[in-house]
Amino acid sequence: EPMIRLDRVSKTYAGAGTPAVAELSLDIAPGEIIVLVGPSGCGKSTTLRLINRMIEPTSGRIHIGGDDVTDVSPDQLRRRIGYVIQQIGLFPHQTIAENVATVPRMLRWDRKRISARVDELLDMVGLDPRLYGNRYPKELSGGQAQRVGVARALGADPSIMLMDEPFGAIDPITRENLQNEFLRLQDELRKTIVFVTHDIDEAVKMGDRIAILGKQSVIHQADTPERILAF
Ligand code: ADP
Ligand code: ADP
Repeated sequence: EPMIRLDRVSKTYAGAGTPAVAELSLDIAPGEIIVLVGPSGCGKSTTLRLINRMIEPTSGRIHIGGDDVTDVSPDQLRRRIGYVIQQIGLFPHQTIAENVATVPRMLRWDRKRISARVDELLDMVGLDPRLYGNRYPKELSGGQAQRVGVARALGADPSIMLMDEPFGAIDPITRENLQNEFLRLQDELRKTIVFVTHDIDEAVKMGDRIAILGKQSVIHQADTPERILAF
């Protein structure tokens, strides 16, 4: 059974003439990294926002772990789906530890459990919790902030991670490090990941599978990353 199933999903934003996503069907297996590529405006970010219900489809159905997402409570969604975006928008007036604690706090975990989890998450992304936990986002480099964004999204150990150009705004060397570290982490965590990028090299490197969104949301799928180059 797929972890994520999109079944003829369409989304037309209010006032827009044409759909941002049209009749998109896609099955995503547990533990795979699927990369969505395609020209700017083809609906990649919209697809992620549909999966985590930040927006509702105009038509079609979305299932996660076999459940129709419309039957999943907001708390359950936060537990099951982590979301990372470019320039993550850490809360500037919260410390790194408080930022990373966002989802566990929403879920009302007790203090001890939250603090242990925050330390574990910061360790996971290569930041020493004692050095960084009490700092504020503006005191971090771009790469460090992006690590915190990943840690925050992993808050309640979601099975699904939606990553929208997570390493997009980072210098090339740091970016390469983050990609490598993330792939190593994924080796252990085996999340189901939907990864959006406009960078073909990144797509080939990160993806187990690549889906190309075209103008009409027609999808070409490459079952090996290398085959994307055939399009
Ligand atoms: P991509 O991530 O592939 O660049 P998006 O999903 O951001 O594409 O956008 C798809 C289309 O939907 C674009 O035409 C964009 O202008 C439009 N769009 C995106 N977000 C909104 C919004 N909140 N309201 C109206 N139109 C939007
Ligand atoms: P708030 O609800 O306080 O405005 P945000 O919406 O900014 O908080 O979300 C904070 C974090 O919670 C995000 O980084 C993301 O990891 C997680 N999150 C928020 N909404 C969702 C969602 N619909 N699905 C999955 N995770 C979410």
